[in-house]
Amino acid sequence: MSSKRSEITESIRRKAMEIGFERVGFTGLSAPKVAPHLGEWLAAGHHGEMDYLSREPDKRADAELAHPWAKTMICLTRSYFTEPPPAGKGQGRFALYALGLDYHDVLKRDLKVLSRFIEETFSERCRMAVDTSAILERPYGEKSGLGWVGKNTLLLAPQEGSYFFLAELVTSLPLDHDEPFEKNHCGTCSRCLEICPTNAFPEPYVLDSRRCISYLTIEYRGVIPRKLRPLIGRWVFGCDLCQEVCPWNKFARLTRAPEFRPSQDLSTHQLVDFMGMTKESFRARFRKTPIWRAHRDGFLRNVAVALGNSEDKDAIPALVSGLSDPSELVRIHAAWGLGRFPLNENARIGLQERLKIEEMPEVKEELLLALFPPSAP
Ligand code: SF4
Ligand code: SF4
Repeated sequence: MSSKRSEITESIRRKAMEIGFERVGFTGLSAPKVAPHLGEWLAAGHHGEMDYLSREPDKRADAELAHPWAKTMICLTRSYFTEPPPAGKGQGRFALYALGLDYHDVLKRDLKVLSRFIEETFSERCRMAVDTSAILERPYGEKSGLGWVGKNTLLLAPQEGSYFFLAELVTSLPLDHDEPFEKNHCGTCSRCLEICPTNAFPEPYVLDSRRCISYLTIEYRGVIPRKLRPLIGRWVFGCDLCQEVCPWNKFARLTRAPEFRPSQDLSTHQLVDFMGMTKESFRARFRKTPIWRAHRDGFLRNVAVALGNSEDKDAIPALVSGLSDPSELVRIHAAWGLGRFPLNENARIGLQERLKIEEMPEVKEELLLALFPPSAP
C-alpha cells in the first residue's frame, strides 16, 4: 500500500464529502460474499416483474465481469431522512425518500462532479451507477465497509440506520480498499420481519418483492392481488414500516440536501384530490419526483386502494368518480375501494350505472363484487 496511493484515496474521499456525499467506501470489484444467493432469489421469482434484475445476473453479482477495466468501486451514501409528515385524516403515506425531488437526478449530478474530478486530475476512466444499474449495491456497500445488510435486506450503519441512498462510481484508478463491514448488528432482533403487514420476508435476509408494498405500489404495473389490498393500508407510494421499527434508525441523521426535504404539496395533500388527475396534471405535479416512476395509472390505482382502506366516508365520492376513469386499472381498484364501505345510495348508483356500460370483464367482476359481496362462510 503506497503512501502516494493512500494520499490519492484520501483526496477522493475528501472531494466526495465536499460534494455532499456523507460516507465513502472503497472496494475491489470482485463479487461480494452474499452474491451467490442472487441466483436462488431470482429462481424463486422473488423479483416479480422487475426483469432488469434478472438480466445478466453473473455481471450483477460480480462487477469485475461487467467492468474488466476497473480497479476500484467507490461506494457513497447520502441521507434522505426527514421527519415523516403526519398522515392525518384523508391523507396517504409516502416512503420518506419519495417526498422530495428525484434522487436519480440529484445523485447523478453529484457523481458527475466526482467523476470529472477523477478523470481530469488523474486521467483515469470512471463509470457511475445509481440504483438502476447492474451493480448489487447493498452487498458492495457492505464490502466497502459502509454497513451490514440487515434482516430487512437494507444496508444499515451503526451511526445512521438505513435512511440513505447509495451510489457507486467504478474507476480504473487503483486506490486503497476499505475493510469489509464484518459485524452484523441485527442480533436477535426481528422487528422488521414482524411488522411487515404483507409477510414479504419468507425468511430473514430474503425479500419476496411480489408481496412488498414498495414493489406493489411503485414497480408493479398490474392489478394488485385482492388479498394484499387491505394489507397495504394507506401507503400510496412505497412503505417504510420495516425501517421505522428498526432500532438503528434512532440514529438517522436529517438530510442536509434541500432536494430531499418534503415538498409542501405532499405534506398537505388530501388523497381525494389526486383521484381526478389527468396525464398532464400528473406530469406537471410529479415529473421531477420519484412518484413519476409509478406512472399516472399506477399511482391512481394506489390512491384508490388507500381510499378504500381509509375508513373515511369522505372517500366515497372520489371512488365513485374513479369508476369512470379512462384507465381500467383505476376502475378496478376504485370499485374494490367502494366495496370496502357500507354502500350508500350514491355509491350503489355509481356502481350500477358503471356496470351498465362497462366492457372490461375484470372491471365488471369488481363492480359485481362491490355490489354483491360474497357472504362470509
Ligand atoms: S417495505 Fe413494507 S411491505 Fe415491504 S418488506 Fe418492508 S414492511 Fe414489508
Ligand atoms: S429491525 Fe432489527 S432485525 Fe430488522 S434490520 Fe433492524 S436491527 Fe436488523
